[in-house]
Amino acid sequence: MEPEHIKLAKETEICKQCKNIVIGKGNLNAGIMFIGEAPGRNEDEQGLPFVGAAGKNLDALLGKVGLTMDDVYIANILKCRPPENRNPLPEEIKKHTPWLIEQIKQIKPKVICSLGNYSTKFFFSDGDVDKMEKMPGITQVHGKVKIIEFHGLKIKLIPLFHPAAIIYNRSLIGLWEKDMEIVKSEILQKTL
Ligand code: URA
Repeated sequence: MEPEHIKLAKETEICKQCKNIVIGKGNLNAGIMFIGEAPGRNEDEQGLPFVGAAGKNLDALLGKVGLTMDDVYIANILKCRPPENRNPLPEEIKKHTPWLIEQIKQIKPKVICSLGNYSTKFFFSDGDVDKMEKMPGITQVHGKVKIIEFHGLKIKLIPLFHPAAIIYNRSLIGLWEKDMEIVKSEILQKTL
């Protein structure tokens, strides 16, 4: 029997239309997770998150602070690509995030870096999708470490600009690099 969190995601139209369900990549024993928004075209084709242009930015920035795919696990709020990369709908977030929550419970990361508005608002609202709209946006909270209790886990949440935003707004690069230095110093601390 298929677990409930997988069945729920599969009920959504985007899951019926996508080529591949994009579950995640990286090390299941990692202490740090990066969580984006949703697969794009390349991710849908390959069945892996962050393999397109945004993924190249993410790889480069991870490299700058000495992190490799062996140190991290990368997933998304949605497991399937919305048509034309439109924004995720609340109903889709509700049906896809139980799967993400299962992944977080399995990996038990000490640090979660939320990439962009959707991911950040999801954690700020403690997973209550109806409250996401009222949460602060990424411009206000990027680089600010917040300790959260999430499904019984104590986690350092570090919101970061979405690596795709950097493609469209090059002026964010400096901020992203500064924020990644914060990530580096937080993961070097052994205690929460
Ligand atoms: N953008 C995301 O948020 N996730 C991906 O996997 C790729 C691009």
